[in-house]
Amino acid sequence: MTPQRIGVYRYLLENRTHPTVETVYQALKADSPSLSKTTIYNTVDTLTDAGLIRVIRVGEGEARLDGEIIDHGHFFCRVCGNVYDFDLDNCHLPQSLPGFRMEGFDVHVAGVCAACAEKD
Ligand SMILES: [Zn+2]
Ligand SMILES: [Zn+2]
Repeated sequence: MTPQRIGVYRYLLENRTHPTVETVYQALKADSPSLSKTTIYNTVDTLTDAGLIRVIRVGEGEARLDGEIIDHGHFFCRVCGNVYDFDLDNCHLPQSLPGFRMEGFDVHVAGVCAACAEKD
Protein backbone atom coordinates (compact mmCIF):
# COMPACT_ATOMS: atom_id res chain seq x y z
CA MET A 1 0.00 0.00 0.00
CA THR A 2 1.38 3.39 -0.99
CA PRO A 3 0.75 6.40 1.26
CA GLN A 4 -1.76 7.70 -1.29
CA ARG A 5 -3.73 4.46 -1.20
CA ILE A 6 -3.76 4.44 2.58
CA GLY A 7 -4.87 8.09 2.56
CA VAL A 8 -7.79 7.49 0.19
CA TYR A 9 -8.84 4.30 1.96
CA ARG A 10 -8.69 5.91 5.39
CA TYR A 11 -10.68 8.91 4.17
CA LEU A 12 -13.45 6.62 2.90
CA LEU A 13 -13.55 4.64 6.14
CA GLU A 14 -13.78 7.82 8.19
CA ASN A 15 -16.25 9.62 5.92
CA ARG A 16 -19.25 7.43 5.23
CA THR A 17 -20.78 10.09 3.02
CA HIS A 18 -20.14 8.41 -0.34
CA PRO A 19 -17.92 11.27 -1.53
CA THR A 20 -17.05 11.93 -5.16
CA VAL A 21 -13.47 11.63 -6.40
CA GLU A 22 -13.37 15.44 -6.43
CA THR A 23 -14.34 15.63 -2.74
CA VAL A 24 -11.66 13.11 -1.75
CA TYR A 25 -9.12 14.95 -3.86
CA GLN A 26 -9.88 18.34 -2.28
CA ALA A 27 -9.76 16.86 1.22
CA LEU A 28 -6.44 15.05 0.78
CA LYS A 29 -4.78 17.81 -1.22
CA ALA A 30 -4.86 20.02 1.87
CA ASP A 31 -2.28 17.73 3.49
CA SER A 32 -0.32 16.78 0.37
CA PRO A 33 -0.29 19.64 -2.14
CA SER A 34 1.62 17.57 -4.72
CA LEU A 35 -1.24 15.08 -4.99
CA SER A 36 -2.81 14.90 -8.47
CA LYS A 37 -6.32 13.93 -9.40
CA THR A 38 -4.93 11.23 -11.70
CA THR A 39 -3.30 9.64 -8.67
CA ILE A 40 -6.67 9.61 -6.90
CA TYR A 41 -8.39 8.02 -9.92
CA ASN A 42 -5.66 5.37 -10.18
CA THR A 43 -5.84 4.73 -6.45
CA VAL A 44 -9.62 4.34 -6.62
CA ASP A 45 -9.19 1.78 -9.43
CA THR A 46 -6.61 -0.16 -7.46
CA LEU A 47 -8.68 -0.17 -4.26
CA THR A 48 -11.79 -1.19 -6.22
CA ASP A 49 -9.95 -4.05 -7.95
CA ALA A 50 -8.65 -5.18 -4.56
CA GLY A 51 -12.24 -5.27 -3.28
CA LEU A 52 -11.54 -2.73 -0.53
CA ILE A 53 -13.92 -0.06 -1.74
CA ARG A 54 -16.67 0.19 -4.31
CA VAL A 55 -17.84 2.76 -6.76
CA ILE A 56 -21.55 3.45 -6.98
CA ARG A 57 -23.31 5.35 -9.71
CA VAL A 58 -26.92 6.07 -10.49
CA GLY A 59 -28.15 7.52 -13.76
CA GLU A 60 -26.18 10.49 -14.99
CA GLY A 61 -24.83 11.27 -11.54
CA GLU A 62 -21.17 11.49 -10.68
CA ALA A 63 -19.56 8.28 -9.37
CA ARG A 64 -19.55 8.06 -5.58
CA LEU A 65 -17.03 6.15 -3.49
CA ASP A 66 -17.95 3.79 -0.69
CA GLY A 67 -15.60 2.27 1.90
CA GLU A 68 -18.32 -0.08 3.13
CA ILE A 69 -18.21 -3.24 1.05
CA ILE A 70 -20.70 -5.39 2.97
CA ASP A 71 -23.84 -5.54 0.80
CA HIS A 72 -26.18 -2.68 1.51
CA GLY A 73 -28.62 -0.56 -0.42
CA HIS A 74 -28.30 3.10 -1.36
CA PHE A 75 -30.96 5.76 -1.28
CA PHE A 76 -30.14 8.73 -3.51
CA CYS A 77 -31.82 11.99 -2.59
CA ARG A 78 -32.45 14.01 -5.74
CA VAL A 79 -32.79 17.25 -3.75
CA CYS A 80 -29.65 17.38 -1.57
CA GLY A 81 -27.64 14.81 -3.51
CA ASN A 82 -26.81 12.82 -0.38
CA VAL A 83 -26.54 9.05 -0.53
CA TYR A 84 -27.86 7.09 2.43
CA ASP A 85 -27.07 3.48 3.31
CA PHE A 86 -29.76 1.04 4.30
CA ASP A 87 -29.41 -2.61 5.13
CA LEU A 88 -30.80 -5.36 2.99
CA ASP A 89 -31.95 -7.75 5.69
CA ASN A 90 -35.44 -8.02 4.29
CA CYS A 91 -34.48 -7.96 0.65
CA HIS A 92 -34.70 -11.26 -1.21
CA LEU A 93 -32.52 -12.06 -4.17
CA PRO A 94 -34.27 -12.70 -7.48
CA GLN A 95 -35.46 -16.28 -7.63
CA SER A 96 -36.57 -16.17 -11.23
CA LEU A 97 -33.21 -16.82 -12.90
CA PRO A 98 -32.34 -20.40 -11.97
CA GLY A 99 -28.78 -21.43 -12.75
CA PHE A 100 -27.47 -17.88 -12.80
CA ARG A 101 -24.41 -17.17 -10.69
CA MET A 102 -24.55 -13.85 -8.92
CA GLU A 103 -21.34 -11.85 -8.60
CA GLY A 104 -22.60 -8.50 -7.47
CA PHE A 105 -25.71 -7.11 -5.92
CA ASP A 106 -26.70 -3.46 -5.92
CA VAL A 107 -29.89 -1.88 -4.71
CA HIS A 108 -30.44 1.75 -5.60
CA VAL A 109 -33.45 3.74 -4.60
CA ALA A 110 -34.00 7.31 -5.79
CA GLY A 111 -36.26 9.85 -4.15
CA VAL A 112 -36.33 12.56 -1.50
CA CYS A 113 -34.76 12.05 1.92
CA ALA A 114 -36.65 12.76 5.16
CA ALA A 115 -34.80 16.02 5.84
CA CYS A 116 -35.58 17.38 2.36
CA ALA A 117 -39.18 16.12 2.42
CA GLU A 118 -39.71 18.01 5.68
CA LYS A 119 -38.62 21.29 4.05
CA ASP A 120 -41.17 20.88 1.27
ZN1 LIG B 1 -32.16 15.15 0.76
ZN1 LIG C 1 -22.90 2.80 0.95
